[in-house]
Amino acid sequence: MPLIRKFEEIVGQKNVLTNDADMQGYLIEWRDKYVGNAHAVVLPKTTEEVSSIVKLCAESDTPIVPQGGNTSLVGGSIPFDTGKEVILSLRRMNTIREIDTRSGTLTVDAGCILADLQQAADEEEFIFPLRIGSEGSCQIGGNISTNAGGVQVLHYGNTREQVLGLEVVLPDGRIWDGLSKLRKDNTGYDLKQLFIGGEGTLGIITGAVVKMYPRPKYKQIALIAVPNVEAAVDFLGLARRLSGDQVTAIELIPRIAIELVAKHIPGFNDPMPAIYDWHILVELSSSVSNNLKELMESILETGFESDLVLDAIVPASEAQQQKLWTMREEISGAQKPEGGSIKHDISVPITHIAEFIRTANTELEKVIPGFRPVIFGHIGDGNLHYNPLQPVGMDKQEYLDKWHEVSRIVHDITHSLRGSISAEHGIGRMKKNELTRYKSEVELDLMRHIKSAFDPKGILNPGKMLPDP
Ligand SMILES: Cc1cc2nc3c(=O)[nH]c(=O)nc-3n(C[C@H](O)[C@H](O)[C@H](O)COP(=O)(O)OP(=O)(O)OC[C@H]3O[C@@H](n4cnc5c(N)ncnc54)[C@H](O)[C@@H]3O)c2cc1C
Repeated sequence: MPLIRKFEEIVGQKNVLTNDADMQGYLIEWRDKYVGNAHAVVLPKTTEEVSSIVKLCAESDTPIVPQGGNTSLVGGSIPFDTGKEVILSLRRMNTIREIDTRSGTLTVDAGCILADLQQAADEEEFIFPLRIGSEGSCQIGGNISTNAGGVQVLHYGNTREQVLGLEVVLPDGRIWDGLSKLRKDNTGYDLKQLFIGGEGTLGIITGAVVKMYPRPKYKQIALIAVPNVEAAVDFLGLARRLSGDQVTAIELIPRIAIELVAKHIPGFNDPMPAIYDWHILVELSSSVSNNLKELMESILETGFESDLVLDAIVPASEAQQQKLWTMREEISGAQKPEGGSIKHDISVPITHIAEFIRTANTELEKVIPGFRPVIFGHIGDGNLHYNPLQPVGMDKQEYLDKWHEVSRIVHDITHSLRGSISAEHGIGRMKKNELTRYKSEVELDLMRHIKSAFDPKGILNPGKMLPDP
């Protein structure tokens, strides 16, 4: 019997897609950078169905691409164009299995949309703290597989810190039930850590136990102009100290980003009363204190006295505060109408951020005079989206043809500061061969051994994350 028929027997005919029109949305990446082809898209509903499909694929040496919300920015969820791979989409596995308010845990299917987890926690006066721009469409299985970051890592940690247990279908089809709620368990290798950030190369995550936290009742945001990037970093230290560590987010925003949002996103104006080069968006949260506005203002006062702050706006209403967050979230989109943008997702030790920016700007100016540095992001984690925008008037394709040359410069500087060339988004297809330059032979050797121990036939997401042999 053909493989497709066998899949249909497991998940039902309508849950096996084979024609181009039906498969289209699964074959194109969010940024249209990667387009692939597939033998079929299979949509299982249960862990047992995933297991049966993987067993069939293992028997027939059919490669599988696990896919969540398909919001990967590095091509991890897109098949190659051979047409031989099967996309296993988790989108029908979207049940919240349990909310345990005593343990402070959610047990969920891997295909649950992130925003649905946030909503479920909120209804119980908790939060699930992962907050990212794609939260309306990405899935928790994808978040775990990429160890997603976002704007609250500073306070709550990465996705890795939120995961207590996993259920995984292994490349031979066996099911590992590791759905533990334990916060302490020192009984050997912590296997779940290998699947977290594993980009679907070691197993298919079908379920997870994740942490919830009591919902902070009060929040206060400020948009603060700072004299330079060093001051932004120092202000973070000051605010953490003076607030008793209630800083839940801090985002770096340059002047050009505010200008682009005001120019291209309807309904936005430059909120600052004067022109400054650098800003930070700072959020304080608390469950007990409702005088966060006063606290923010007193921290700002100390900041002024210490020459760390030039100006600030501290909005009173929730709507105004939300508008500032939306401004931050629109920065990526506001770059698009301006032409080509070469994206980087780097991290360096927080003490080296200013040095990184200075050096990268100087070196790139030598290669592309007049480029426009759009540098923003999670400065509290040392994580910057360093996205040089094309010079005004330059041909877009001519600029984008320099992607490799530009990235090489940016990544070499990052590496020289003991940073990471992928702080949040993972490796996928985009950066896999970069690893040979930036990871040691020892690390690469261990990674290859782990891959072959879990997946000796190499059927799970082949050609992703690990460098080509
Ligand atoms: C507008 C926008 C904003 C973003 N902001 C952020 C941000 O702030 N921080 C951040 O970290 N990322 C961000 N991202 C990137 C992306 O949303 C995250 O990487 C997200 O975690 C991917 O989830 P997904 O469900 O879409 O996974 P997919 O894109 O479908 O897959 C990602 C990888 O995980 C694998 N995978 C997916 N599901 C499973 C599973 N169940 N089992 C095993 N492997 C699986 C895939 O094979 C692939 O390798 C953003 C993306 C967009 C489009």
